[in-house]
Amino acid sequence: MIVTMRSYVTDYEIELLQRDLRAHGYDSYRCRFGDQVTVVAPGVDPDLLSDILALYAVERTASPGTVPPLVSMDAVGRGSVVRLGSGVEFGTGDFVVVAGPCAVEGPEQLDTIADLVAAQGAAALRGGAFKPRTSPYAFQGLGRAGLELLAETSRRTGLPVVTEVLDPSDVDLVAEHAHMLQIGARNAQNFPLLREVARTGLPVLLKRGFSSTVDEWLNAAEYILCANNANVVLCERGIRTFEGRTRFTLDLSAVALVKQLCHLPVIVDPSHATGNPDLVGPLTLAALAAGADGVLLDVHHNAAAALCDGAQALHPAEFGVLMGRLQLLLPALDRQLAPRPEATAAKLAALL
Ligand code: PEP
Ligand code: MN
Repeated sequence: MIVTMRSYVTDYEIELLQRDLRAHGYDSYRCRFGDQVTVVAPGVDPDLLSDILALYAVERTASPGTVPPLVSMDAVGRGSVVRLGSGVEFGTGDFVVVAGPCAVEGPEQLDTIADLVAAQGAAALRGGAFKPRTSPYAFQGLGRAGLELLAETSRRTGLPVVTEVLDPSDVDLVAEHAHMLQIGARNAQNFPLLREVARTGLPVLLKRGFSSTVDEWLNAAEYILCANNANVVLCERGIRTFEGRTRFTLDLSAVALVKQLCHLPVIVDPSHATGNPDLVGPLTLAALAAGADGVLLDVHHNAAAALCDGAQALHPAEFGVLMGRLQLLLPALDRQLAPRPEATAAKLAALL
């Protein structure tokens, strides 16, 4: 049973309803969407519990459909907006460009790239401090030191920071330094990790596993929402197919489909999908045309020396060209670039 509560219901009233359901032997999960709350009570027949439901501010009840209930478009009836830091919003219709290095390598590297992407219109900064590497001998990220650099660069530029967390025991540490927690493709079905990131209440960037179906991806998001954190942005980053000439196969049909099935914003990572900077521009434009709410882009000023994924990074000059192309295409689709956070705009203006 899916119960939509009347607007402005209090958390206390929801707790009473959940206590009543528990007394009748049923687990339940709730998720707050602004002034609206939805309660999911698996296995409950609303007709059998109608006396109880009549005691609470129930707007309506429904049976589950084929899409997990809390991420389903039916849960809110329109696309939801997820806020990142102060001033960046996914899901408003504006196209959000998140850019930065694959991995944080050191202060000069991060500052150089952050300044260049901020100056060219990025709304947020990406950069991994904990890196999920295929080889145990590859650079694993700077860990805590990398998080501190991200936080410092964020303070300096005003850009909010998106960074990956790999281990449930690092979630609090990462949450202290970042504005958005990234769940990488390799952890897309790490359910204890999904529950831990949900608990922080911070926005979560949930990548699609490279062998996850759309339903598995949506269920992974449902884990976060049913822990009462509705601040999830989905990220399509390519799936594994028989094709060997690109790193993965970017599944833009899933983007258009998920935008219909689900109310959460969806962005695209063409850098990890293709592994090829020459394909990142075209696929960014295609992602916009397919209805994506933004992109996550690897940018590096010295790709040859990068410690992680240099081969797929855009040079800052190429990033600038792509931003120019986006600005040409956006008006044709009645959309615009998500503005830089005010703090970034003010800091850039002070530099000029
Ligand atoms: C990343 O964005 O740094 C990353 C590791 O991506 P993915 O999890 O999609 O491979
Ligand atoms: Mn990478």
